[in-house]
Amino acid sequence: MNKLTVKDLDVSEKRVLVRVDFNVPLEDGKVADDTRIRAALPTINYLLEQSARVILVTHLGRPKGQVKDELRLDPVAQKLADLLKKEVVKTDTTVGEEVQQAVENLQPGQVLLLENVRFNPGEKANDEEFARQLAALADVYVNDAFGTAHRAHASTVGVAKFLPAAAGMLVEKEIQTLGEALQNPERPFTAVLGGAKVSDKIGVINNLLEIVDALIIGGGMANTFLEAKGYDMGASLVEKDKLDLAKEAMSAAEAKGVKLLLPRDLVVAREVAENSEYKTVPVDRVPENWKAVDIGPETAKTYAEQITASKTVVWNGPMGVFEIEPFAKGTEALAQAMAEVEGTTIVGGGDSVAAVEKMGVADKLTHISTGGGASLQFLEGKPLPGIEALRDK
Ligand code: ADP
Ligand code: MG
Repeated sequence: MNKLTVKDLDVSEKRVLVRVDFNVPLEDGKVADDTRIRAALPTINYLLEQSARVILVTHLGRPKGQVKDELRLDPVAQKLADLLKKEVVKTDTTVGEEVQQAVENLQPGQVLLLENVRFNPGEKANDEEFARQLAALADVYVNDAFGTAHRAHASTVGVAKFLPAAAGMLVEKEIQTLGEALQNPERPFTAVLGGAKVSDKIGVINNLLEIVDALIIGGGMANTFLEAKGYDMGASLVEKDKLDLAKEAMSAAEAKGVKLLLPRDLVVAREVAENSEYKTVPVDRVPENWKAVDIGPETAKTYAEQITASKTVVWNGPMGVFEIEPFAKGTEALAQAMAEVEGTTIVGGGDSVAAVEKMGVADKLTHISTGGGASLQFLEGKPLPGIEALRDK
């Protein structure tokens, strides 16, 4: 990576402001899933070992620039303290007198968590004065919030202007793994794209077509491709205004010699519901008023073979409506194939990550990206403002 990392900084006894992504789900006032907190532990523990004074800042949910008691970070502080086996001091504000006092009291090797940064309207506005107030709390800045690296906010971009700014260990790992796969992949390189819509991912499709050897399309977006090829998709989710984009992508794949795989059979259902009637049909037999909800078994087999024959696989977007058990089989088959790959396997995207975790193969993959939107933007080949803002090596 061409940016400074936390290990390039002298942090001993320094006040280190660390932007983390502790945007975790809460249930009954408790942290329901601590994955994102655990992902930041390597950086926090490193800083503590170096006797830094650690000041953590994160957002939680969408308070829209106002104080929302249900989005206070007290449960997060509690969970972090449990994980670190160490006291975590938490302030009820993000900047101001209370915080200045807490920072003054902070000793080397201690941890402070500031209140939800999005309680302040200056955060999302990337307000310079707010960024300056955050910066004034510390001697150096570390960004370890890969999940918000695609957002130019005060605590991700604004603050980096006023302090020596470096990447944390999670950010470094994400950028290195994703960057290596895109810049210098071991081949064959296959990308698997699914999920609901072409419109969400057309940038990813176009960028990956420049890089990969094969592109697998599944999920709802496959319907738009199939309709563009002239098939009648019944009542399936099809983006009529994206048919041209799909056609362009198919011609681009052909021109570049990229193998483009589309479903040959589909699971169709009368309703997208648990107890709906459903069946498998070839792509040219989707019944009127039925909806495609998953790739069919023949397609799943072909896709799995393509995946296991690859040395690098990047996957974003489930193959079907995997939230509903009977429509999860295509996604399950591909998750299994990913686990068998002898090479680099990367999964990014909120729902895709949830799917591979649910299917119990997460620990057999090379890398699970913690950033949904950020990893998509990276796969689009676009710069991430939160990374750009850091100092060059
Ligand atoms: P990710 O979060 O991994 O980037 P997306 O958000 O793009 O993935 O897509 C996930 C969603 O796509 C899931 O909610 C899933 O139910 C939906 N989906 C997948 N296949 C279909 C389909 N055939 N029809 C409608 N929705 C689908
Ligand atoms: Mg999603």
